[in-house]
Amino acid sequence: MSEHGSRDARPAVAGRPPAPHLARPKGTEVGSVFVSNYPPFSVWSREHLAAYEAVLERPWDPTTSPSLGLYLHIPFCRKRCKFCYFRVYTDKNAEQIQTYLDALAREVELYAERPAFAGRPLDFVYFGGGTPSYVAVKHLEGLVARLQAAMPWRRAQEITFECEPGTLTAAKVEAIRAIGVTRLSLGVEHFDDEVLRENGRAHVSKEIYRCLPWIRAAGFDQLNVDLIAGMVGDDWPTWKETVEKTVELDPDSVTIYQMELPYNTVYSQAVLKGEPSPVADWPTKRAWHGYAIDRLQEAGYEISSAYTMVKKRPGNDASGRFLYRDALWHGSDLLGCGVASFGHVAGVHAQNQADWHGYLEPLLESRLPLGRALATSPRQRLTRELILQLKLGRLDLAPLSARHGIDVRATFAAAFAELERRGMLRLDGDRVELSRQGLLQVDALLPHFYEEPYRHARYT
Ligand code: SF4
Repeated sequence: MSEHGSRDARPAVAGRPPAPHLARPKGTEVGSVFVSNYPPFSVWSREHLAAYEAVLERPWDPTTSPSLGLYLHIPFCRKRCKFCYFRVYTDKNAEQIQTYLDALAREVELYAERPAFAGRPLDFVYFGGGTPSYVAVKHLEGLVARLQAAMPWRRAQEITFECEPGTLTAAKVEAIRAIGVTRLSLGVEHFDDEVLRENGRAHVSKEIYRCLPWIRAAGFDQLNVDLIAGMVGDDWPTWKETVEKTVELDPDSVTIYQMELPYNTVYSQAVLKGEPSPVADWPTKRAWHGYAIDRLQEAGYEISSAYTMVKKRPGNDASGRFLYRDALWHGSDLLGCGVASFGHVAGVHAQNQADWHGYLEPLLESRLPLGRALATSPRQRLTRELILQLKLGRLDLAPLSARHGIDVRATFAAAFAELERRGMLRLDGDRVELSRQGLLQVDALLPHFYEEPYRHARYT
């Protein structure tokens, strides 16, 4: 998995109400969340599905429609990591996987027939999971042939594919390249085998080194490596070693997340039964994350967002970019396909049914497997873009104000003032810049910008 490469359309398993995020406790308690959308999923409902169906019937317009992406959720993994909260299956056989992939292709075909997408080009595609690289080459090629026939991505600028090192072979890497993947995201997470084992990861470090020559030989535009700061059992020496080995690997980008404990992970369940939290506290995780940022900067990387460091390579324009993230955070449309996936079309959020049968059965009858939706207000669309773009660490409010026809700085004056007072950001005219401490805890700051009813709402 490099499921941490981006979590913007990735289905989390719904859990119990999260702890209030406005006052994050020092220790890593159960309920911490990664903010990937707004308003919170808990307020999406079946009542809004009609609004989503309505926008699908509205023809797209090449002069006004935003860019379009496709997220494909491949929910299979060799093993369930103890910190995982995504919708994944570890018990499906080849036949069940084929059934799922057929349904996924059918879902895309159904969308391709709707006026909102008929003949509309894709700008970016993201294979996330789960573990997309878990799928056998012949299954993958069959899926892609159907997808390309329905919604071709030959002109798309970025195709990302998440890989778990232990699932790769030379032939599979070649097949991944052959389907047009430009950005391969490798779920390394850590280099210490004891830490990987303790956290329930399926791969070991030698598998990372085994697949690298194949990846290099295939010539992807961009190699991303995912790391997690704060895996159970980590400490300063093993984390520093992991950062050093990452620098030696020299990927084009490095994505770093701090370990969280949402509901429904194996670790969270143990804590809810009364065991102490096994995860390092937030100040420690921030210190580790901050160390990695400093070390990567020394090695020639730049901060691209709160989570991602990039190394720009002369002659390779793609090396420093992450189109999927930037497009989503600036209001593009996204078809989220696969069990429990969510997307956003013409201002309406929608999420698929979140269980195996609930997802598959409507598709057998050529119906979209929709579960819940939300038609957003203009203010909510603005808030969504603002909070997501704040994760970049620096932001010019003027284009956002112009695009939404509202003075963003004045509208959110109280939130900006409070965060500036706390040293989390600096506001200079329309320029916002997060401080290092603001950047390292940005997800905990974003609820300050929410509308009042959502500040303490359940997230999923
Ligand atoms: S089980 Fe592990 S590899 Fe699979 S999606 Fe979850 S975190 Fe990623």
